[in-house]
Amino acid sequence: MNVSEIIRELKMTKDEFFPLVAKLGFAVGEHAIKVDDRIAVKLITAIKQQRKQQQHQSLFRHEKQPETAKLVSIKKRAIEVTNPITTKYFAELLGKPVTDVISLLVKNGIMATINQNLDFETVSIVAEDMGYTVTLSDTKITEAKATVEREQKLQTALHADAEKNLKPRPPVVVVMGHVDHGKTKLLDAIRNTDVVSEEAGGITQSIGAYTIEHKNQAITFIDTPGHEAFTAMRSRGANIADLAVLVIAADDGIKPQTIEAIEILEKAQLPFIVAINKIDKPEADIEHVKKQLSELNLTPEDWGGKTICVPLSAKSNLHINDLLDMILLLTEVNQDAIKANVNRLAVGTIIEARVDKDAGPVATVLIQTGTLKISDIVEVGNVVGKIRTLKSWKGMPLTKATPSIPVQFLGLKGTPTVGDILLATTDKQVLKRKKNKSYQTFSYLKQASEKNSGKTRLNIVLKADTFGSLEALVESLQKITHSEIEINIVKRGLGNFTEKDIDQAVASKAKLIGFNVTATAAAADYALGTQTTVLTFSIIYKLLEQVEVFAEELLTPEIVYNKLGELKVLAIFRAKAKTTVAGGKVLSGVIQNKAIAKIVRNGSKIGEATIVQLQSNKQDVSEVTTNNECGFKLETNTEIKVSDILEIYKTEARKRKLHD
Ligand code: GDP
Repeated sequence: MNVSEIIRELKMTKDEFFPLVAKLGFAVGEHAIKVDDRIAVKLITAIKQQRKQQQHQSLFRHEKQPETAKLVSIKKRAIEVTNPITTKYFAELLGKPVTDVISLLVKNGIMATINQNLDFETVSIVAEDMGYTVTLSDTKITEAKATVEREQKLQTALHADAEKNLKPRPPVVVVMGHVDHGKTKLLDAIRNTDVVSEEAGGITQSIGAYTIEHKNQAITFIDTPGHEAFTAMRSRGANIADLAVLVIAADDGIKPQTIEAIEILEKAQLPFIVAINKIDKPEADIEHVKKQLSELNLTPEDWGGKTICVPLSAKSNLHINDLLDMILLLTEVNQDAIKANVNRLAVGTIIEARVDKDAGPVATVLIQTGTLKISDIVEVGNVVGKIRTLKSWKGMPLTKATPSIPVQFLGLKGTPTVGDILLATTDKQVLKRKKNKSYQTFSYLKQASEKNSGKTRLNIVLKADTFGSLEALVESLQKITHSEIEINIVKRGLGNFTEKDIDQAVASKAKLIGFNVTATAAAADYALGTQTTVLTFSIIYKLLEQVEVFAEELLTPEIVYNKLGELKVLAIFRAKAKTTVAGGKVLSGVIQNKAIAKIVRNGSKIGEATIVQLQSNKQDVSEVTTNNECGFKLETNTEIKVSDILEIYKTEARKRKLHD
């Protein structure tokens, strides 16, 4: 039987199904598509049985509700925590002895003391184990504070040097421009200018930045094209680029994202050069681009203005050197700001971070001042470590990294966040103070349990036509919050959906949502084959409404109890350990087969039962109405007596709303 059929039959989501199956002891892999028919039947029966038990328990839990309460809902217990939180306070919130919580932490590999700070992920995992959902309080405030702190730290570190210690360093360049105008191609072309022939084809660039030499001078390029990466880093207080190259395709001219890039560059006061690309194309019109630039008050130099323009072709390798010449020229003009002190402890910004399953946390840092060496002790946000290895962008081992050089390194005890500031220190105590143990454990735990973060994730691949709308959408999507659901944008970008987007959505089970974009023909075809759907919108609120619908689909349904009627027990025919056969009269409403019953004696509830057979005049029936007598078989652990009242309920799984 197909797993999807079973899941449908049980009205569950995959994320609920697989963990439950594992919990019930069935050997069904997390990615199983089919299950042997006999196992499927056993599985469905076991899950239904378990649900029934839960319904009984919940009936019991709610017995103190007033008689008039007809609707009873089951909600998961929830707690709200700060990040970090001490073990002691966490235990208080859970209402458990602190020793119990400590032993549970130990079971999860975390050696925690009573006053130790625990991070949010650790807390979520442990609390989830105990049946709680956890939400983070004041996340936004903490994040905003952290950004300000990072910015201050960086500025203090960068400006702490006396002017006399500062020496010119290589410029760091970012490439921006409209989608498809050739940013990636240009970055490739520039990188290849520096690859000596025997290396060609032999280099796999493993990090998101590279350094080339042009006329014996080094230039570093951030290899994450797109305004978004740039802005994201800026918003984290990481002002890492010194100069920019604005790519405009000569056959297409200035487009909305070009204008946005210009706005971002002007806001950041970043000097830039315009690369007029694709001049190899017959329809290239350099003069038209220059005219458009003039209209935007960016008059090119050869038209009497100040904007440096370099017509080139990334594809045909035309005039790439001219662009590099201009970058060196612009560096010289701005040299006062492009300086650093080589002879100090390193300060840098993390531009990439991930966990390698063998090597542990791997990060790429762009050094902004100072020199980073093997064995240096570093602090990166909340994570600390000692540099074990340094590698250049070409994968060559290094013993040190100087300003403006991107390096990949090992040695951190946890995974930092992109945009985090790295500070090297001589204070060895840092390694102890930062309670590495918990971070180390946490990063592994986090890896192991993406789904266990306490919330169900709604993954989204988001594409939009302009950077502004993308930003607005991300902001609005972040406002869709719920204690059980987390909107997780696994990928965002500009332009139409590509096959790569579809792949990514399939891999992360994400919804593909677009604003004012479509899917390329190839991507649309490909999506069909993978049974994914690309949804595109031209009105923001419609898009948000759809995301809310998706989020609601992930909410566990509310179990609602509707009272059907009451019955008085008149005779007991047969009573066994688990079943009782009895007769009675319907006092009010109706009695239905398969309904649930609360057993009431002398006004108090003493147990629950399920009606598994209902008879009227010795005939099986599905329903008996008021004033009629009937026979019935109950499944129950409670001993039933004559004169007991059975209150009969029907349960209904009701879809919940995000804003309930
Ligand atoms: P990005 O979205 O800005 O990174 O653009 P890409 O670098 O991916 O380039 C988009 C398309 O334009 C690709 O098909 C490239 O091969 C093509 N392209 C880029 N530069 C040139 C160029 O100088 N000449 C021509 N003819 N095509 C180019």
